[in-house]
Amino acid sequence: MQRMNKLHRSRYINVVVSMMMAFLMLAAMGTTQVHAAQYTTGTIDPAELKAGDVVYRGVQLTVDRQIVVCKKCNMIWITTGTDYGTGDMKRSEVVATEAHKDHPDKVGYSEFNWYFNLDSSGPLLKNTPYTIVENANIKYKIIYNTNGGSQIAEEKQTSLPDPLPAATKDGYEFAGWYTDADFTTIARPGQALTADTTLYAKWVEHRHTFRDEWSSNDTSHWHAATCEHTTEKKDEAAHVYGTAGVERYTCSVCKYVSETRKREAEAADKKNTESKPVKVKRTEAKDAALNSKFNVKAGKTVKVTWGKVKDADGYDVYMAYCGKDKEKVVKSVKAADSLSVEISKLKKKGINQKKNIKCHVLAYKMVDGKKVTVAKSITIHAAGKKNKSVTDAKSIKLKKTSYVLAKGKKAVVKASIVKKDKKRPIINHISEFRYATSDSKVAVVSKNGKITAKGKGSCSIYVYATNGCAQKIKVVVK
Ligand SMILES: [Zn+2]
Ligand SMILES: [Zn+2]
Ligand SMILES: [Zn+2]
Ligand SMILES: [Zn+2]
Repeated sequence: MQRMNKLHRSRYINVVVSMMMAFLMLAAMGTTQVHAAQYTTGTIDPAELKAGDVVYRGVQLTVDRQIVVCKKCNMIWITTGTDYGTGDMKRSEVVATEAHKDHPDKVGYSEFNWYFNLDSSGPLLKNTPYTIVENANIKYKIIYNTNGGSQIAEEKQTSLPDPLPAATKDGYEFAGWYTDADFTTIARPGQALTADTTLYAKWVEHRHTFRDEWSSNDTSHWHAATCEHTTEKKDEAAHVYGTAGVERYTCSVCKYVSETRKREAEAADKKNTESKPVKVKRTEAKDAALNSKFNVKAGKTVKVTWGKVKDADGYDVYMAYCGKDKEKVVKSVKAADSLSVEISKLKKKGINQKKNIKCHVLAYKMVDGKKVTVAKSITIHAAGKKNKSVTDAKSIKLKKTSYVLAKGKKAVVKASIVKKDKKRPIINHISEFRYATSDSKVAVVSKNGKITAKGKGSCSIYVYATNGCAQKIKVVVK
């Protein structure tokens, strides 16, 4: 058993050694091929010539280049330039080096194709190898390691780009490209490359805060970063415009006014007023529609509901505590179909439930950017929920709910109140009943409830209690 093992081991070692030798030979051959090509003839792309390659007179470049030649050392340096300035500059560099500084008269510069033309009377020797020391035309791979930043595609160049590309990384500020991962050597833009190169992006943590106010251009708005160096934006969105009035050209979010849209809107308004003047006015029928469901329910909050007015663009709800306070807008409803609101504060405080509430509603239409009142409700006075001294009407009782009158005849409405709380009086700082007609061409009604027939037709007479509680009387005029 032991002998066998020994035999196996020595065989194994032999195989490994011969494999290693084969590998080394291959590697050596590979190196020879890459680094020491000889060019005796032909036209060659300057990017293909490597340092260490040897060229003879007779070789030409597909694109001519300024080169520096040392005739003592038989060496050449190939630049990327085509002008004599580039050649001259490279020569100064070469004669300053230790190897050539004692024979500057042997170092010259000119075009490669002139030096190496077989037929020219150029100063180079025929059948003599000239070794390439340096060739600035070789392109090397540049790999951008952005360290978690935005990707940048690798490229092949003779030198680093100038300027170097920009990368971004969320929450970080770019702090430069380095040629090493430890950020000790900063990459120099435009530096000639002599090998494939990886650049490493350095980042410094840096988060942005954004302004509260909006920034805007003609199409959108955003919150700008408080830092000047960045164009980072937050909440960027297109402007939001409405369909009527100033909202057609004023962004509802940032209040930006679009001059273009404003001009268009004004032109449209002008055209409208010229062609068909808008007939917008308050009518008895619209008032009746608004009053038809008008109700104020006072409690911890005050719920106000009303009837829909045809053509209204919105409603303004006015409210105050009963007494000398003037009613003020407590809610502006910018929708035609929104017919109720709930108010939880008056005079900037929670509702005082011991106080009575007065309230009315205006329906408006937007005309040329302005509100025009198309209906006005009665003013309701509603008892506060915790007010112990007064009560509201529960309903109205009518003696008669329809009248047929000849033109010019009169009749008096006979109404009485059914109270919510029989022991308390109704609010009495306004008249017990208020009256309105739906069409005063047919019949009118006085503030004491006297109906006067005016013209043929039919209409409704409305009777309202203090809290808006209502009854309808039909009047036909013959
Ligand atoms: Zn030399
Ligand atoms: Zn910043
Ligand atoms: Zn905007
Ligand atoms: Zn009142």
